[in-house]
Parts: sequence; C-alpha cells; structure tokens
Amino acid sequence: MSTPRYAFMNDRVVPWEEATVHVASVGFKFGTAVFEGIRGYWNAGREQMYLFRMPEHLQRLVYSQTFMRFEPRVDPGLVEQGVVALLRANEFREDVHIMATAYVSGPGGPGTCTPTGLAITAGPRRDIPWTERGCRVQVSSWQRVPDRAMPMRVKCNANYQNGRLAALQANADGYDTALLLNGSGKVAEGPGMCFFMFRDGRAVTPTTTSDILESITRETVIELLTEAGVEVVERDIDRSELVAADEAFFCGTAWEVTPIVTIDGLPVGAGVVGEQVRTLQQTYFARVRGEVEAGSQWRMPVYERA
Ligand code: PMP
Repeated sequence: MSTPRYAFMNDRVVPWEEATVHVASVGFKFGTAVFEGIRGYWNAGREQMYLFRMPEHLQRLVYSQTFMRFEPRVDPGLVEQGVVALLRANEFREDVHIMATAYVSGPGGPGTCTPTGLAITAGPRRDIPWTERGCRVQVSSWQRVPDRAMPMRVKCNANYQNGRLAALQANADGYDTALLLNGSGKVAEGPGMCFFMFRDGRAVTPTTTSDILESITRETVIELLTEAGVEVVERDIDRSELVAADEAFFCGTAWEVTPIVTIDGLPVGAGVVGEQVRTLQQTYFARVRGEVEAGSQWRMPVYERA
C-alpha cells in the first residue's frame, strides 16, 4: 500500500517514515492519546479542498485533553496550522481523511500526563461500501462502556477497543457492523458512528447522555433535518423499536450518512435504502463538498486561490 509523502509531528511537516513514537511512550503503552478524525472534501470545480467543521473538531480535541489532564495541552491553533500545512505539502486533490492525535509522548506510568506530542496524518478517503446499498447491522452483545467507567464523550484512543470488539463480533457473525446498547439496555451508537431512525415521520436519535460521543455529524444531521422540516427527537431508543423503524442510518465524520437496511437480519422498513436517507445523503454531500453555497460556515478552504 502506498503511503502519503508527508506527516506532521509536533510542530513540523516530516517525511512519512520519520513520523514515529517511542515504544516506551505512555501514549503507546497505555493508549493515553486523544484524537480527531477530520474530513477534507475536494471540490474539483473550484480546485479547492474544504475542511469540514474544523473549529468543532479543535474544540473537542481540547476538551478531550483537558479531561485526560494532558500537560501541556496541544494548542488548537497549532493543530489547525498542522492540518493545513500537511494537506498542502502532500498536494492532495481528492477527498481525504485526517487523523490528529495528541498523546503523552514521554516514558512513564499510567498516571503520567506530560510531555505531550502532536501527530497528524492524512490520506485518501476510502469509500464506504455501504453508502449506496446500505449496511447490515448486528445489535451487539458487547455493552457500550458507561460514562462512569470510560466516558465515550472523551475521544480517547483506548475507548476504541470497546467498539472494536463489537465490530469484530459482527463481522465474524456475517454482519457489516454493530450497534451497541448502553448499560441501561438502550440504543447507544455504532463503533465509530451515531444512530438515527425515522419512525412515523419523525427522526429519532439517542440523547448525548446515552454513553455516546457528542458527534459533530450528529449535530449537522439534526440541523439539516430540521431545516428540511423534519422533526428530530432526542430520546432513549429501545432495542425492540428498531424493528418498527421505517428507515435508519449511521452518521459520523468517516461514516458520513450510511443507510442501514437490516438489523439482526430483520429488514428496516422495506429492507432497502429509503427515500428520506437518500435525500439526506444528497444534502449532506452537497454541503461538505461546497457544491451549494449553504453551509459555507462549516467549510474551511485549505488552498490559497486567487
Ligand atoms: N461515535 C464514535 C464512537 C465515534 O468515534 C465517532 C467518530 N468520531 C462518532 C460517533 C461520530 O462523531 P463525529 O460525527 O464527530 O465524527
């Protein structure tokens, strides 16, 4: 697999091969790292790359570091500069997925909070096979980690082992991905994405106190649906309600808007991608890519253009 030419480490662009961490670093040993997945969308007509909702990602990265007591916290201004410098250095002219990670870079024990480092990588966005045909979902027997154990609100790398177990189980059982329930048995989210269903004309999604990440795409989707005149309800969702849904989808920076066609082998609605999800996908992609003027407040141009 070919790799991009450059990565960003601490305060500068470096050749890809030089973007390494020490095996004794606390970030490596204990997963003491927090990150943001960010998308850059290429608009060929304008020869421009747009970062989607950069300020919100930076704000969440600061929150995660504060919660994890990183000392010092990586400056959000540096992260923004790093992302822009990295995309420009690699001269990307296609959609990209960016990972910006703040981590405890020195040696130490599980309680070590300092020093901290910044690592940013970016590469071509891989298509999700289910964007068009929808995905088949298994309700996982793994439980979403509760807030009082390891808060999902904090985008800590170590949290991702929970979703990994669920996703691997789903794959082993022949499904595309998983949907996790929380400690109260209510629907939480997917391994790296939030859940929505359409039921009786309304869109329903779990609250942000359901042991989920406070997703930026979830917020975006709520805004887009509301704008389109769809009522959005944030409330607990029972597992048994999933069978009553007319349509359902996952959303997230990487998952964008991905339809769900079956849950536990039962069809969601007609068992095919529905009209409401298709329409939402079209609106979403037009906004992120800057094909329409609307949503310009969410897009940050990367390249300098005359
Ligand atoms: N939940 C989890 C656990 C995630 O990792 C992600 C991806 N960041 C999401 C939801 C979606 O969040 P966002 O829309 O901010 O990418």
